[in-house]
Amino acid sequence: MITNEIKAKIRAIVGAENALDSTIECFGYSYDSSFVPMETKNIPQLVVRPAAAEEVSQVMVLANEQGIPVTPRGAASGRTGGSIPLEGGISLSLDRMTKVIEFDEQNMMITVEPGMRTIDVYNYAAAKGLFYPPDPGSWKYSTIGGNVAENAGGMRAVKYGVTSNYVMGLEVVLADGTIIHTGGKAIKNVTGYNLTQLFTGSEGTLGIITRILLRLIPMPKMRNTLQMMFPQLDDACHTIRDMLLTGVVPATAELMDRVSLEAVARYRKLDVDPKVDACVIMEVDGDTKEDLKKQADRIETIAHKNSVLEVQVAASQQESDEIWAIRRGLSSAIGAMAPTRLGEDISVPRDAFPETVRLIRKISEKYKLTIAVYGHAGDGNLHPSVLCDLAKPEEAERAHHAVDEIFAAALSVGGTLSGEHGIGITKRPYITKALGEAGVNTLKLIKQSLDPKGILNPGKIW
Ligand SMILES: Cc1cc2nc3c(=O)[nH]c(=O)nc-3n(C[C@H](O)[C@H](O)[C@H](O)COP(=O)(O)OP(=O)(O)OC[C@H]3O[C@@H](n4cnc5c(N)ncnc54)[C@H](O)[C@@H]3O)c2cc1C
Repeated sequence: MITNEIKAKIRAIVGAENALDSTIECFGYSYDSSFVPMETKNIPQLVVRPAAAEEVSQVMVLANEQGIPVTPRGAASGRTGGSIPLEGGISLSLDRMTKVIEFDEQNMMITVEPGMRTIDVYNYAAAKGLFYPPDPGSWKYSTIGGNVAENAGGMRAVKYGVTSNYVMGLEVVLADGTIIHTGGKAIKNVTGYNLTQLFTGSEGTLGIITRILLRLIPMPKMRNTLQMMFPQLDDACHTIRDMLLTGVVPATAELMDRVSLEAVARYRKLDVDPKVDACVIMEVDGDTKEDLKKQADRIETIAHKNSVLEVQVAASQQESDEIWAIRRGLSSAIGAMAPTRLGEDISVPRDAFPETVRLIRKISEKYKLTIAVYGHAGDGNLHPSVLCDLAKPEEAERAHHAVDEIFAAALSVGGTLSGEHGIGITKRPYITKALGEAGVNTLKLIKQSLDPKGILNPGKIW
């Protein structure tokens, strides 16, 4: 319960206009981009929008003293319900903290506030000739703080890795208001435990990230796109495998199965060749035209050895944009196919990708549900989407069983529950299966030592 007295103290810290408590204002902070249904119990009592780490710290001191739950929030583009305030309390929105604090060209690093949009970090660096590679599909609206909290991935992960590969240091406000600084600009650093990586991917349960030091790399001078249509899923997967084995590493290697292609075709009023079972979209990058052509030629040769039906190498930026529009529009196209889409995010060893898709197809047949599968095939991260209508109880039951079996399938091939969306609320029931009792207990010990009262993002992960 947040009393009027506490609200007054919080308003004195952040300014009256940045502590919202009307139901209508708070309602907007009770859901995110996951399929967790909207419920009035998830409406926070207070939305707090601090402008600086010191303000976050003072709010946390109060929350910790009073035992008030605090749920950090970026842009709410999360897919696992992470920023939903399950126990009410404070929704701590970082949306006013959007500044670049320092651009250090000599060390190729940038220090930013957590509320900055991912695409703005990319654009800021790009304007200086440097490259921030992680590009979650949501990068036009997700925040960099949310990306760090989820250790977000994206399409370029196959060549450039994920958010954690770029986080050099953090400023974090702990549950009791203490401000700590982790990591730094030294490339090599083995001073104590690696707290930077501990907070990265901690889903807002261990501290509030208020400042982020990111490493940048030189921007490749040019890019091009290839689209390939295959008669069998295995042919598509083998092309990616053979290509990586021969040392060609594209920036992205995205795969869409037949169901996904049909979804896009329906959405964009196109036809899909009945012979096509899978589509792969790749981006190659480099510094010269010859460099790009060499990579594209090698990929094409490998694709032909794997029975490719059609290869399109974009001849212009417009063609490239058109190909990517198909991939970037996929999420909406699939979403439009059914009242509910249970969009998942499993990650498996690369060579288990086709086996996993086959297992998912069996699950689809078993439960008589359409399941679209697409994903970052280059790094083994799949997004199976179970299409259903959760309003129909019998169908909802089948859909939930299907999801259970998808996770079991991922674990059975040596994979994991999440490649990039985190555990949040939606995957809590499965975490012990993935990590074992002892593994989960170890995580809980870390949580207890940093947040003994359990006020930071309660109800998430386990
Ligand atoms: C269409 C679409 C495409 C997507 N594509 C991808 C993709 O390709 N790859 C990918 O990885 N994800 C993807 N996502 C998921 C989502 O965009 C990411 O998880 C993203 O990192 C969330 O950022 P956010 O700012 O919206 O955070 P939110 O959703 O607001 O929060 C996410 C979690 O981070 C915590 N948090 C937020 N800010 C902070 C902070 N400053 N300090 C501490 N904790 C904090 C929250 O409490 C919550 O647990 C996609 C989502 C959508 C809707």
